[in-house]
Amino acid sequence: MTNSLLSYTRQASQAARFIGQGFLVTLDHMNRSAITIQYPYQKLVPSERFRGRIHFEFDKCIACEVCVRVCPINLPVVHWQFQPVQKKKQLKAYSIDFGACIFCGNCVEYCPTNCLSMTEEYEMSVYDRHELNYDHIALGRLPACAEVDAMVETSPILGK
Ligand code: SF4
Ligand code: SF4
Repeated sequence: MTNSLLSYTRQASQAARFIGQGFLVTLDHMNRSAITIQYPYQKLVPSERFRGRIHFEFDKCIACEVCVRVCPINLPVVHWQFQPVQKKKQLKAYSIDFGACIFCGNCVEYCPTNCLSMTEEYEMSVYDRHELNYDHIALGRLPACAEVDAMVETSPILGK
């Protein structure tokens, strides 16, 4: 009888300690700002080094295909034609399929003419995955800047 009473008391005090610890965690979180935002009515401004949709400058590309070789899945498609008079390649078309791209940034890093750059654009949802295959015209479109988006409500997380 005495043993069972002791065991009951021990278990009750242990349970009370766990409940107290749980309350401390709850109190700790009550002091913090909210992490979630009401997307799409609120949007976060991506950080400076955010790796979003790739931007491509057609006129700067020399069709060297370095971007293809450094891509883990050889993704960029570079269509070019050799010009015998000028003795150099002429770029005809360029495309990247964002349905397969992992946004590693290798192509941007190694491009010798800096014609590729990563934007802060991340809203790329489509109903047909084939629409994610961007040609050089789609890649050349300037990114929508989150800061000038009328939908953007500044986030308390970023302190703005
Ligand atoms: S690495 Fe740059 S310059 Fe070379 S083909 Fe790719 S995008 Fe064009
Ligand atoms: S970001 Fe990475 S995966 Fe995407 S095209 Fe460039 S190298 Fe390939």
